[in-house]
Amino acid sequence: MKKNVIIISIISFLIFFLIFLLYPRLDIKNKNMIISVNEEYKDPGYDLHNLLFKLNNKVKVNGNVDTKKLGNYKVYYTSRILFISIKKVRNIKVVDNEQPKIELNYDIDKICKNTDIKKLEYKAFDNYDGDITEKVKVELIENKLVYTVSDSSSNKTILTKKVEFITDNSPILNLKGSEVIYLYKGSNYKDPGYIASDECDGDITNKVNIEGNVNINRIGTYKITYSVINSNNKEIRKERKVVILDRKNIGSNIGNGKIYLTFDDGPSTTITSKLLDILKEENVKATFFVTNKSNTLNYLIKREYDEGHTVGLHTASHDYKKIYSSSESYFNDLNIIENKVKNITGKDSKIIRFPGGSSNTISKKYQKGIMTYLTNEVINRGYIYFDWNISSGDAGGAKNSNDVYYNVTSKLSKDKTNIILMHDFENNYKTLNAIRDIIKYGKDNGYTFDVITKDTPQIVHHVNN
Ligand code: ZN
Repeated sequence: MKKNVIIISIISFLIFFLIFLLYPRLDIKNKNMIISVNEEYKDPGYDLHNLLFKLNNKVKVNGNVDTKKLGNYKVYYTSRILFISIKKVRNIKVVDNEQPKIELNYDIDKICKNTDIKKLEYKAFDNYDGDITEKVKVELIENKLVYTVSDSSSNKTILTKKVEFITDNSPILNLKGSEVIYLYKGSNYKDPGYIASDECDGDITNKVNIEGNVNINRIGTYKITYSVINSNNKEIRKERKVVILDRKNIGSNIGNGKIYLTFDDGPSTTITSKLLDILKEENVKATFFVTNKSNTLNYLIKREYDEGHTVGLHTASHDYKKIYSSSESYFNDLNIIENKVKNITGKDSKIIRFPGGSSNTISKKYQKGIMTYLTNEVINRGYIYFDWNISSGDAGGAKNSNDVYYNVTSKLSKDKTNIILMHDFENNYKTLNAIRDIIKYGKDNGYTFDVITKDTPQIVHHVNN
């Protein structure tokens, strides 16, 4: 009996001891993990063992962690060894701790009081939510623009930008066409137009107020006043004079008494540079209505411009048949010389002269009514055309430089705007040899010389076609 007890005790002890040795234990590291969104999840490890063996290969791991998505995840570790089953769990929380970013896509420090601050471009991005521009709150607090945005995890970003207000904005008003328009009695007057803008208000052309009337059937000078007021309550006014003339008096009863030397059809290899030399020596500025010649003569147009003369446009081809066959053909031709002059001088010229003058009748051969159309259309397109009221005759009647001198000086008048037609075509020595004496006559008799600009009284002929 006693012996049995001892045996049972020993066996029991051995069983318990064996269980103690073999009983599996599972340890997992980091039971509660927090990781950032998009960070890689790496199992920090686990350990299944008993006192004799390592048993990691008996562990089953279950559970997915999608670190691209915020949330709580669980990873289960299970094992079954003989009759013992073991289970442990790891809790993983995927969080977003990163602040969204606000980007300002404008580069101005001064804004208008009426600027829609929401329209100043900005963007907001979040590492998790993506584009959250719509969630941005924009406020103007004193002199700061404050941009605030929070992402879906309540990470908040505040961005401030200092701004100044524009308080001195004044409107700008520009008249198209000439500031003085000469018209024959009974012809049509059409306002050449205007443009008004303001730094803060944008285009305010439709706010321009026009006062004054033109009675086309009555000789006289009419004043048209253009005015516009911006949202800052500042006003600008401009004036245009419309002079209605009797047909036979055009260019003679109204004028500034100045002399405008004009040279058509150049540049030329034989005349232009010598002419420029004389003008330079005499310190007189003139106007050149140029045509499209060889590019080797471009330097002469450059010189004209650099030396303070006006470079006007006289069409590229000067070919009546071509330019007066249609309006499209005329403007295509004009564009060629306009672009050329712009490329050479860097300045867009809008001063033009029609080949043959606006009064020419040769155009009838190619298109009836074309001069009536073009003389209006050029103004609509922002050009100003000039004819002349003194012809030197150098392309026709004048036989020599004495004739040129006489034709010019005998017609000069202090009471008119003296626009003199001369030519800069090849071998025109008649004019080249007369020009110094014409200048001398002008100076001796108290005239001043000027270049044609858009503000020069617009001397035009009667249109005959
Ligand atoms: Zn010509």
